[in-house]
Parts: sequence; C-alpha cells; structure tokens
Amino acid sequence: MRIQVQSISPEGVRLEYEKTGDWFSETLGDADERDFTVDGIKVRFTLARLGRTITVEGHVEARIGLTCCRCLKPLTKDVQTDFRYAYLPAERMPREADTEVTEEDVGIGYYEDVIDLGEVVAEQIVLEIPMKPLCREECRGLCPYCGIDLNVADCGHKEKTISSPLALLRGYPIKKQKR
Ligand SMILES: [Zn+2]
Ligand SMILES: [Zn+2]
Repeated sequence: MRIQVQSISPEGVRLEYEKTGDWFSETLGDADERDFTVDGIKVRFTLARLGRTITVEGHVEARIGLTCCRCLKPLTKDVQTDFRYAYLPAERMPREADTEVTEEDVGIGYYEDVIDLGEVVAEQIVLEIPMKPLCREECRGLCPYCGIDLNVADCGHKEKTISSPLALLRGYPIKKQKR
C-alpha cells in the first residue's frame, strides 16, 4: 500500500485494496504471539493534498478469527472501521509537540516521497478486535468444576451450588491443592 506522493492530485485519489492474512502477518510481524487470525481484508482510501499535507480517509473491513473467552470455541467476527490520517513532509517532523494538527483528532505520519499505509491499516484492524470475544452474548461457558461445555450439556454442578455462596468454594480446585 505504498503511494507515491507525487501521484496524489489536489482533487484526490481513490484507492482500493484486498489483502489476505499473509499480508497482515508480513506487515505487523510476530504472528506467533497473536491469539487471533485476520483474513478477507478490504480497504478503501481517499488521499487528498492540502498544501503539503496529505490527508487520508480510509475504510477497512476484515474477518477476524478468535476464541470465545467463555467456552473456548473458535469464532469469526467481521469488523469494520473508518479512520483519518494526515501526513506531513518529513522535514516538518516536530522536535517537541508543535504540530498544527493534534494527534487526538487524527493520526499523523510523515512522508518523504512515499506514503505507506500498510501499517496504519493493520493497526486499525487490531484496534477493532474485542478484548473478550464471545461466540454469542449469552454463551454459558465451561463448568468450572468439570469443564463441560454448558452450551451443549448440563452437568448439574451449577444447580447444586447455587443455594449458598459458600457452597461454591467447596468445589474450587485451589482447595484441593491445599490438602
Ligand atoms: Zn462461547
Ligand atoms: Zn460440571
């Protein structure tokens, strides 16, 4: 997703890309450390020139492969987001915080001859990934006593212990370790 700054006309250019999970891994690296997969990436950009500032308005879609945090089943989630970015000439890179545009409003990058949007896109996708993914809102998760998937079966442990909060403590593995 490298764009020659010279090719951006004042009226702006529209660009579209489709990318795979391999592209995502190459762009961000460290694929082994991730607990999610990304595929089906679609990106649209409008780049425009405002003096020497290049503004970018982008839209990203991707399919994320995750694991449900309650029942540990794999799930896929489609995410999408819009974002704005501004690129300033590299010689105007601030020594302190003296930019015209504040980074709270919009991301800022710096260019020499080429703008590479790959990393920005990959980061936008990461921002959309839920911290606690659920296969469905009402997922019942795994039984803390026997590990059975409570969405497909009922071991009855919950009913036995719900009568008293103290009864819950009896089943905890921690207690067994103390013996
Ligand atoms: Zn689940
Ligand atoms: Zn159980």
